[in-house]
Amino acid sequence: MIPIVNTISEVRQLIKEWKAQGLSVGLVPTMGFLHEGHKSLIERAVKENDRVVVSDFVNPTQFGPKEDLAAYPRDLNWDSQLCEQAGASLLFYPSAEEMYASDYTTYVNMEVLGEELCGKSRPGHFRGVCTIVTKLFHIITPNRAYFGKKDAQQLAIIQRMVRDLNFDIEIIGCPIIREEDGLAKSSRNTYLNSEERKAALILSQALSLGKQCLVQGERNTESLITTMTDWIKKEPLAKIDYINIVDSSSMQPVKIIDRPVLCAIAVYIGKTRLIDNFYWPE
Ligand code: AMP
Repeated sequence: MIPIVNTISEVRQLIKEWKAQGLSVGLVPTMGFLHEGHKSLIERAVKENDRVVVSDFVNPTQFGPKEDLAAYPRDLNWDSQLCEQAGASLLFYPSAEEMYASDYTTYVNMEVLGEELCGKSRPGHFRGVCTIVTKLFHIITPNRAYFGKKDAQQLAIIQRMVRDLNFDIEIIGCPIIREEDGLAKSSRNTYLNSEERKAALILSQALSLGKQCLVQGERNTESLITTMTDWIKKEPLAKIDYINIVDSSSMQPVKIIDRPVLCAIAVYIGKTRLIDNFYWPE
């Protein structure tokens, strides 16, 4: 069985031993309830590093007061099996108390890149993400860390944070893994009932439509956003949180597409908030 380590001191000790042997370390940060998307990150990390640490931590500081922190799905047994199958070396599974002292007061905050998209609808979310990722980087000291393009704004923010704060860590973005019908895999898909599961296809459909218009030469983002909005509005269970097209490095909105962009959407299906995106060019 894969070792499950709960304390910072124990994981540090193991990593110190690996580093003393000259081994490289890859880190895959997750919130658990692992699926094929996470697995693809772990497998890539296994290919590129001598040892791979998967962190499994539902980070309270990245959830807003009305969000699903308490309801977020958890299954350590399943997660450890998936990590083992994927070839990870260690599962780091700390408690909230292990990660945050009761009088914790230090945060890492990112300006500008966190203002649009999910940053707008989830105030404080990226402060929580940058804080926990910084802590994990200090604890694990990986050579490389793996993040999914499913959370494209998060990936851009982590890349910028690593540059701005001089972390000596290579950040690797990995492609979105989807269900056969196109729905992006997500731990939150488990919240969907069968009717909502069907309705959730509207996200990938709208993005395909937007991409098709881009391929055909449309460069006006307002027009592309309207096309995607109208498509999603056909689905009665869907409520749009945002649809936006932003510069893929600054995450700032673009009017005419004359540079690489990210087209990102967040849509509620019933009570479940789902996100999806595509980069242009891919
Ligand atoms: P989470 O557990 O949702 O915080 O995700 C942990 C990591 O897995 C993040 O870097 C996500 O972007 C990535 N991830 C989640 N879902 C997918 C997916 N469907 N395809 C690729 N990466 C994913």
